[in-house]
Amino acid sequence: MKKDQLLTRRRALLAGTAVLGAAGAGTAGLLLSGSGPDTAPVRPAAPAAGPPARAVEAVKPSAYRLAPLAGYGPPPGNGPQRLEVRHEPYLRMSGRGRTMLLTFDDGPDPRYTPHILDTLAEYDVRATFFVCGEQADWNRRLLSRMADEGHVVGNHTWSHPLLTKLTRSRIRSEMERTTQVIVDAYGERPQWFRAPYGAWNRAAFQLGADLGMEPLAWTVDTNDWTRPGTRSIVRTVESGAAPGVVVLSHDAGGNRSQSVQALRDYLPRLLDSGYHLTVPRRTTA
Ligand SMILES: [Zn+2]
Repeated sequence: MKKDQLLTRRRALLAGTAVLGAAGAGTAGLLLSGSGPDTAPVRPAAPAAGPPARAVEAVKPSAYRLAPLAGYGPPPGNGPQRLEVRHEPYLRMSGRGRTMLLTFDDGPDPRYTPHILDTLAEYDVRATFFVCGEQADWNRRLLSRMADEGHVVGNHTWSHPLLTKLTRSRIRSEMERTTQVIVDAYGERPQWFRAPYGAWNRAAFQLGADLGMEPLAWTVDTNDWTRPGTRSIVRTVESGAAPGVVVLSHDAGGNRSQSVQALRDYLPRLLDSGYHLTVPRRTTA
């Protein structure tokens, strides 16, 4: 990664970022860092797709006292910054104003991701891509394009398994291999992790924290992977639009031409409605 590219990207990231917060009905937004234990128990505002996060109920509060409390601050060397272990993913952003996050999962895919990047570039909008290692591995140039254009790349495991069926060491391997490809191709360690199918468990939260990644889910699921039609995807985004909302779409995993076309439709409309589309920012970073 050339230094000027890095600076360009950092500027872009700083120019358009938002602080994520835990969310619950009637819960004020919370900053991600400096918040320590205060951030912990907040009810999810919306159910995540996929199997219920049983781990959330299964883990007793006392278990958390045993979890290593990582100090905040710069990590030693190039290693991950260990984070406090959460027991729920972030579902939305905190803060005021008409700010939303667009996220695209399972890619990159050379058939669809470049079109999504083109549309985002046309409107000067930054998004978050939760990539799978096995896709990223053979599409490294797309990750480097994401870096150059100021997008955020998160870790979505290597092969998109259901984590709740895996051993701890398999989960770790899925995460670590993907992080390594992201470091190589994107130029930075991923700061965000998203569990496939929204199926989180305790190991995923712990290992993610060990590897310096905060868990990020979503608020509005476009269900674009069911190919419901471009208009349906557009409607879902527009009816779900609200301050702090995180939108889930897909740029890989099947035919995603509807997702590509839908973005072309709803992105200018969101902007016309006064929404600011941005990327997540960790205040610890
Ligand atoms: Zn996925």
